[in-house]
Amino acid sequence: MSAVAGGRVIELIRDHGGDLKASAGSVPTPSGKSAALAVRAAELACKLSSLDVTQRVRRFRDEVDGPVVFTTGFGLEGQVILHHICAAGLDIDVVTLDTGRLFPETYATWEATERRYGRRIRAIYPRRPGLEALIADQGINGFYRSKEARTACCDARKVEPLRRALAGARGWITGLRADQSAFRNEASLVAADHERGLLKLNPLIDWTREAAEDFAAAHDVPVNPLHQKGFPSIGCAPCTRAVRPGEPERAGRWWWEDESKKECGLHVAAAQ
Ligand code: SF4
Repeated sequence: MSAVAGGRVIELIRDHGGDLKASAGSVPTPSGKSAALAVRAAELACKLSSLDVTQRVRRFRDEVDGPVVFTTGFGLEGQVILHHICAAGLDIDVVTLDTGRLFPETYATWEATERRYGRRIRAIYPRRPGLEALIADQGINGFYRSKEARTACCDARKVEPLRRALAGARGWITGLRADQSAFRNEASLVAADHERGLLKLNPLIDWTREAAEDFAAAHDVPVNPLHQKGFPSIGCAPCTRAVRPGEPERAGRWWWEDESKKECGLHVAAAQ
């Protein structure tokens, strides 16, 4: 364990020591569970930090007591992680959230990915009643009108489906990289997602975009052609534009909103 990581574990135990003692009985309190999850995440981060991606994912799978879900939108990082999962034959549920507003190129990449790896990827769709109510209320492209309208659309098309994708999971793997944005720079290799009560692994957290591109090229990983057209980050078609030279990677997401976070609510806290 590195000195920094070890210090983080000690910090967590100090901060949550009372909670941990309170949870020492047969029925842990909610705060005790939360503290234990945070300590577990810090311990796992120490164990995994020096490993390569395959070892990180394999060890995470082995250490998490229960189902592990990997969510992908078929972007570069998701494709690289999926390659590692498939190559190692790991027992991890691979899921995508089909918002219904994705680019044609993304659907083509999805199809090419299933062919390349010989497996079906589980798709989760928005619930029809919620979606119909949303469209009735704000119209088909109402998300351009305000931050609240956009958030309501992301909630119906992404956040609620993610809740179902992760139902029963004890671990969640995502493709976050620290250098994608200032918000993501706060993310950890392993984090405690207290809201969802699970451990979250970001196995490419310390990778650069160039490293991911090189890996994909060297291993015949299907890559969304939009990446070659100035889209470093790819989400729903109406809410993603190409970035200009020098712009941050996520500048093309919800570009009409004047704020820097550029997240849809799937990643609820910076530390995750
Ligand atoms: Fe709706 Fe745009 Fe969010 Fe997609 S990214 S769910 S279209 S607001």
